[in-house]
Amino acid sequence: MDNMENPYQIAKAQLDDAAKHLNLDEDVHTFLREPMAELTVRIPVRMDDGSVRIFTGFRVQYNWARGPCKGGLRFHPDETIDTVRALAAWMTWKTAIVDLPLGGGKGGVICNPKQMSEGELERLSRGYMRRVANFIGPQTDVPAPDVYTNPQVMAWMMDEYEAMAGRHVPGIITGKPLDLGGSAGRLDATARGGMLTLRETAATLEMDLRSCTAAIQGYGNAGSFAHILIAELFGTTVVAVSDSRGAIYSAKGLDPTEVAEHKRRTGSVVGFPNSKSISNADLLELDADILVPSALENVLTADNAGKVRARVIVELANGPTTPDADRILLENDVFVIPDFLCNAGGVTVSYFEQVQNASNDRWELEDVHRRLNEVMTEAFRSVYETYRDRQVTMRTAAYLVAVERVAEACRKRGWIGSRTAAGDKAKGREAQTPRQAARTASTT
Ligand code: GLU
Repeated sequence: MDNMENPYQIAKAQLDDAAKHLNLDEDVHTFLREPMAELTVRIPVRMDDGSVRIFTGFRVQYNWARGPCKGGLRFHPDETIDTVRALAAWMTWKTAIVDLPLGGGKGGVICNPKQMSEGELERLSRGYMRRVANFIGPQTDVPAPDVYTNPQVMAWMMDEYEAMAGRHVPGIITGKPLDLGGSAGRLDATARGGMLTLRETAATLEMDLRSCTAAIQGYGNAGSFAHILIAELFGTTVVAVSDSRGAIYSAKGLDPTEVAEHKRRTGSVVGFPNSKSISNADLLELDADILVPSALENVLTADNAGKVRARVIVELANGPTTPDADRILLENDVFVIPDFLCNAGGVTVSYFEQVQNASNDRWELEDVHRRLNEVMTEAFRSVYETYRDRQVTMRTAAYLVAVERVAEACRKRGWIGSRTAAGDKAKGREAQTPRQAARTASTT
């Protein structure tokens, strides 16, 4: 992986760019470039054939200035400490952009769940939880589903934690099954949140989504629900979808229920009746109005960004676009809804789950949808206003809003931020220590 494809280097480069625009104090900038804590664990798992395999897992707590760390857990063969660091950084900006009282964290295990039995996956899930149990907690760091993990994995992990704690602790993890303290609306929350940002985008760009076409890359939780929701909410025609085995195309449009049923039966979207088989690369360059990358990092790069014909990119995946690709998309006037704004619906409903668990309550689906709509609309508005006022890209605008919120939390805690903070000087105010600021606030 060269530097331009290492997600952690990309996350740092994006932060550096934001720091320049914000005139961020140097010590705050330095502090925000690195995770606050990280853990690497080895997990021995008894495989079905009687052998023992040692898996490596990670948990990174990037920043907890605004609240307990929050973020998913991935099971993926290509996982590295650097991918987890990057994803933990993006979670920090994500929880800040939707203004949740949370920080950012992420976890990962190097494994290939597609080649493991259910029993092996359960033992791995429980083993991971045993190793990280002392590092995480409802008030410190709360995992959730991500790539190749799901509510069942969350259930095993919660059960393992509770067995160790000797009491009920549903707030240890989110994205649980509904009957084990999960929240209504969590399953499609990432895709739904993304669709709400698409709705806002269409309103500002004056696009009629009903007459638009869309291509969706990736058919996991985010992509498959995006397919259902874009059709259901806006009547947009989805002409192409893909998964790790290939892509399919139909000019007339692909029915989400039928494609999902085909994938359930055969293991892939490929071979869906009355569709044309195309490559994953073809899908990204299709003549469709909306492109929805919904799988992994580094999908849009310097090599293919110039060939993208979509007008809007809905980044449901984390980190799908490299900085080089960003520059090309900007030149070509492609509107990018940046990942940590676009896909923040998942963590938002995870937060609703935490609130319900903490108060032993249950919210109706309509309440979850209403609140999610409020949160996503407000987040989009704050990013869009910054984009318009500061004449930066949507991604930089999102960084400006999020990083400033996290930086301010670090300063207010008194962790960092010089007494002659650059921000204060720039605004012509006298620099104050947090204590002085508090005194001023209480006397005026
Ligand atoms: N894994 C999701 C994300 O990347 C959700 C995280 C969560 O719910 O905590 O945003």
